[in-house]
Amino acid sequence: MKVALRNVTKHFGATTILRDVSLEVADRELFFLLGPSGCGKTTLLRLLAGFYEADAGEVWFGSQRMDGVQPHRRNAGMVFQNYALWPHLTVEQNVAYGLEVRGIPTGQRREKVMEGLRIVRMEGFADRSPNQLSGGQQQRVALARALVVEPDVLLLDEPLSNLDARLRLEMRDEIRRIHDETRITTIYVTHDQQEALSMADRMAVMRDGVIEQLGPPREVYRRPVNRFVADFIGEANWLAGRITGTEGGWSVVETTAGSFRVAAPASLRNAGTVQLGFRPEAGRFDDAGPNRLDAVIEQSTYLGDTEQYALRLGDNTRIRLVQMNPGSLRSPGERVVVSVAPEQCFLLPSDPGAS
Ligand code: ATP
Repeated sequence: MKVALRNVTKHFGATTILRDVSLEVADRELFFLLGPSGCGKTTLLRLLAGFYEADAGEVWFGSQRMDGVQPHRRNAGMVFQNYALWPHLTVEQNVAYGLEVRGIPTGQRREKVMEGLRIVRMEGFADRSPNQLSGGQQQRVALARALVVEPDVLLLDEPLSNLDARLRLEMRDEIRRIHDETRITTIYVTHDQQEALSMADRMAVMRDGVIEQLGPPREVYRRPVNRFVADFIGEANWLAGRITGTEGGWSVVETTAGSFRVAAPASLRNAGTVQLGFRPEAGRFDDAGPNRLDAVIEQSTYLGDTEQYALRLGDNTRIRLVQMNPGSLRSPGERVVVSVAPEQCFLLPSDPGAS
C-alpha cells in the first residue's frame, strides 16, 4: 500500500519537530528514514502509526486519509528497538496477541502464528518464553508478531540497534529477505548509514525536522545535494574552488590544491565559488585522467581489507584516501600523485547558508 505525508508539521510545546514534511512511499517499497539523533524520524514514524497526530498536514494510506484514525484501526505493524515482547507469554502467545485482539478464531490463529514464525525462521521456538531467546531471536519474534496481522504498512523503529555488530549484519539480510517474501510497504527508521545504504530501495535523509534528500542509496551517496548529506552518509574530502570555464565537455574548477574537470550541475555553472567533494575511496594513487593532486603521505593505517591514508596537499589541505586490498606500503613522508575521476567528484555551492 502506498503511504503519503502531505505538508506535515508537528510541534511539541514550542519546539517544531517536523516542518512541512511531504513524502510518498511506493507500494511494496522498503523505505528508510535516516538522520542523526533528534532529527524527528521516530516522531514521523509515530505519526504514521497513529500514536501522534499532526498539527498540520495529512497522512494517507492508499486512498484513505488516516488523520484521526486510531492506531489499532490503521492496520500498521510496528517493531521497536527493545522488541517489547511480553515476558509472561510464550513466543506463540506473543505472536498470536494481535490476532486475538482482532477476534481471529483460535483455529486460524495457530495456523497464522506458525506461518509468521516460519517467515522469520523461528518455527521451533513456539513454546519458549522470550527470556529463553537471544536478542536476535527476540527481534525475529517481534517481526513475526507484526507480520501475522497482515499489515498494510510495516513500521520499524531502529529494530537492530540493540543487537551486536555481527547479528546486526545477519538481521539486515533477514529483514531484506522477509521484505522480498512479503512485499509489505515498510518504513524503517535508523541512524545507521550502512544499514540504510545496504537495505533501502529509497531513503530520506533528515535533519532538524526536514527531509534534506530523498532517493535510492547510490544516488544519495554519489550525488549528495548538500554538505550535511555528504558528510552524514559517508566521509568526504572537500576543496574550495572556483568555476572558471569549460573544457572537453567538463566544467573547469580551479582549487587551491589543483585544477579539476568535473560535471557541474546547471545551477552551479555561473556560481563562481564552489566546494568540490570526493569520497576517500574515489582517490587513486596514479596520475591517470585530468584531475591530479600532488600530495604527501602523513599517516597510513593498515586494516587488512583496506589501507587508510591521511595526506597533505600542496595548499596544506588534509584529505583521506581508502585503498582496497592494499599491497605495497606507502610510508609517511612519501610524495605521491593522487587522481580522482571526474564522475567521482561532486560540486556544491560554497555559500555555507546553502549547505
Ligand atoms: P533518535 O534517533 O534519538 O531516536 P529521532 O530522530 O527519532 O532521534 P525523535 O524521537 O523524533 O528523534 O525526536 C525529535 C525531537 O522531539 C527530539 O528533540 C525529542 O527530544 C523531541 N520529542 C520527541 N518526543 C517528544 C515528546 N513526546 N514530547 C516532547 N518532545 C519530544
